[in-house]
Amino acid sequence: MTRRFPYSPLAMLGLAGLLALQGCAPMAPGRHGLDIDTSIRARSQGSRVQFIVLHYTVSESTRALGTLSRGEVSSHYLVTDDEPPRIYRLVDESRAAWHAGQSEWSGYTWLNRSSIGIEIVNRGPVGTAADGTPAWQPYRPSQIRAVRALVRDIADRHGIAPENIVGHSDIAPLRKQDPGPLFPWRELAREGVGRWYDESVAQALGARFASQGLPDMEWARRQLARVGYAVPHGDAPPHDMQAVVAAFQMHYRPARYDGVFDAETAGVLAALVAASGPAGADDASAW
Ligand SMILES: [Zn+2]
Repeated sequence: MTRRFPYSPLAMLGLAGLLALQGCAPMAPGRHGLDIDTSIRARSQGSRVQFIVLHYTVSESTRALGTLSRGEVSSHYLVTDDEPPRIYRLVDESRAAWHAGQSEWSGYTWLNRSSIGIEIVNRGPVGTAADGTPAWQPYRPSQIRAVRALVRDIADRHGIAPENIVGHSDIAPLRKQDPGPLFPWRELAREGVGRWYDESVAQALGARFASQGLPDMEWARRQLARVGYAVPHGDAPPHDMQAVVAAFQMHYRPARYDGVFDAETAGVLAALVAASGPAGADDASAW
């Protein structure tokens, strides 16, 4: 069936009006002789930025600024250790910075193009503690306040989910340890920045795992993947899985991050999974 085009005088008037409107529509300045009409904006759209990745610099402010602005790597922001801290924006948020490298989170890979990177001036590991574990440089409270305000602002503007505010070690656990076990994820989450878990649930589940036995590593693998981690295959070297567990512990149970899948770690993981949605039947049977 053909439809007749409505050549009524009224419709013609409407068409003429539309043409007149287009005549004065804003045109974006075009390169290559392009004129692009930007007068109409689609309602359905969103930010391309889905993740915020936190790092420490290892080097001090001046050196970090030089590396990140003139070197082969970069970040959108650098938070110095001045008092008060200075926040540099080195790369516009609409562009990619080279801060994440080979990385994966929640099935997304190579996060440079989909994330905002924030470097915090901090030396990271600074020696060895009495018990033989690395000693870490603490973050300044003023730095943490600056980072919290910055992350909150970015997350609000881009609509970034709390679970997608991550550390470099979360998205590259086999290569990276930053922002390290002293980064106060828990404190930030209590202020509404990032993801945390119900600690009483974690404690109860941990106690149950301690008395009734730990779930197997296949379970650990499945749950770690559910909360976002890229989990090595079953036939990968054991230290790969240990690195992922250590990264998880640095973020969610930083008191001990030896990569040993203990009852407390299992409890925290189960509590996180429970908080992020109803468990499948196979998972429910494990706790
Ligand atoms: Zn990093």
